[in-house]
Amino acid sequence: MADYDVIVVGGGISGLMSAMTLSKHGKKVLVLEKRKNVGGNCNSYDVDGFQVDTGVHAITHLREGPLRRLIDTYFDYTPVLLDHGAYYVRTHKGISKIPSTLKAFATFDMLPKMDRLLLSQTIAKAITQTTLGTELTHQSMYDYLPKGLSQDALYFIDAICHSLSGRSMKETSVHRVMTGSSFVRDSVPENFLEDEEIAYSYKALLSNHLTGGQVKEHLSVLTRFAVNNVGYSQAYPRRGLKSFLNAVLYSMSNSVEIKTSSKVSSIFTRESMVKGVMTDEDTYTADAVVYTGFVKDMPDVVDNLPASYIQELEGIVQTRSVTIWLGLDSKLPEFDYTGSEIWFKPRAYWAMPISNYDAQLAPPGKQLVGFTFIADESVPLVEDKKRMYNTILEAIPGIDDHIEMTHFQTTIPEKAAVTINGYFAQPRTPIKNLYLAGTDTDRRSMGITRAGYSVLELLKVMRDDHHIK
Ligand SMILES: Cc1cc2nc3c(=O)[nH]c(=O)nc-3n(C[C@H](O)[C@H](O)[C@H](O)COP(=O)(O)OP(=O)(O)OC[C@H]3O[C@@H](n4cnc5c(N)ncnc54)[C@H](O)[C@@H]3O)c2cc1C
Repeated sequence: MADYDVIVVGGGISGLMSAMTLSKHGKKVLVLEKRKNVGGNCNSYDVDGFQVDTGVHAITHLREGPLRRLIDTYFDYTPVLLDHGAYYVRTHKGISKIPSTLKAFATFDMLPKMDRLLLSQTIAKAITQTTLGTELTHQSMYDYLPKGLSQDALYFIDAICHSLSGRSMKETSVHRVMTGSSFVRDSVPENFLEDEEIAYSYKALLSNHLTGGQVKEHLSVLTRFAVNNVGYSQAYPRRGLKSFLNAVLYSMSNSVEIKTSSKVSSIFTRESMVKGVMTDEDTYTADAVVYTGFVKDMPDVVDNLPASYIQELEGIVQTRSVTIWLGLDSKLPEFDYTGSEIWFKPRAYWAMPISNYDAQLAPPGKQLVGFTFIADESVPLVEDKKRMYNTILEAIPGIDDHIEMTHFQTTIPEKAAVTINGYFAQPRTPIKNLYLAGTDTDRRSMGITRAGYSVLELLKVMRDDHHIK
């Protein structure tokens, strides 16, 4: 008899949500995490009295997406989720809300009038095409844009693309931008498509990537251009990102064992069926293994994957990000808002003053702001970090007089970037009972929400394979 029903490799949020949900299905689960702490990219820690997160985070699709389903079905405790607020764009004129409706585009004076007109037409066209079922998943933003846009408009769109896919507008699809800016929803109540009758008529009416809360909402999707809200259903967890992690840990049943500082060096198989895993110190057997590390790296730990599968995994595209956390000696008027901002010319960042959600994240009277950049792989990282830092000084003149803590984080935010040609793995692998979960196994949404989708898909295939009821 195997030591465990399931071994989960990796204790990031995907691995922990997999373990927690499987434990609620009565499984005896072992989680092996190579680092000293669990949480992976979903965590928070103290730096000189400021509590930083691993990257700037807004958790999305909370009303009807995969996390809502996981929270409602499996969590014993729900973190307090604070409304994200607005998305702003910063220029030297100050900040202005990112336009997401026709009216807002008309008055968005950060871009010339002609740009606004051209962009409004482009969005209306994309919404119409999506509504009618045209596939825009492989259509790059760059190729889709009309001629005649100013350089500033191109920088602006490139910044939006970088924040949604981690890649430039040449590699980001129109579909990605439409879903990421809430013009098209890629989340539905998860049980929606499970009712076969409803799902059938729904799919017959519209393409299945056109989603939203209710059928009648889909039928009039163009109206979303009048009422769209970019920050729809997004939140920041009170007490920091780690409170989401803590809610998952709190919801684990006693049948989960977690071992940290335990790097899995091999997942072993017999007759194309998984049998267990090895760390430097131990060997553990299980009926099933869920791998949640980088799928791209899986050939290093599983020795008999088919060559064609390994080749497919090489098609996974990744991006590196750098977050610069600044602890400020006072609350600056520049950051007197709740939400996040982007700066777009020409180096883009996405920033969030997280202590505005929760004052306890900074010492009394002080402020904590995180700025996330996509690394430029063509220059050495040390040099790139200096350029990123200088971008902040340029965007917020005088901020350097108030900085009392600087902390850099270099991370790969998602294990696969959603690019027009990037590959995503499936939850089932060619090895029987070896499964995958994580942000490189589902292309919907982003980050923790995508991790949620991947866990729901994992549960579906494990149910189909009779591991759970
Ligand atoms: C800068 C930044 C900004 C972000 N913004 C957002 C946002 O706004 N909204 C959002 O929802 N998400 C956001 N994310 C993404 C989100 O944090 C991640 O997608 C999510 O945390 C990934 O979880 P994961 O478990 O799939 O992967 P990871 O966090 O990478 O976890 C994988 C774990 O597996 C472990 N591991 C790997 N290999 C092995 C092995 N062989 N043996 C044992 N352990 C192993 C690793 O140590 C790690 O702990 C952001 C991330 C960053 C960095």
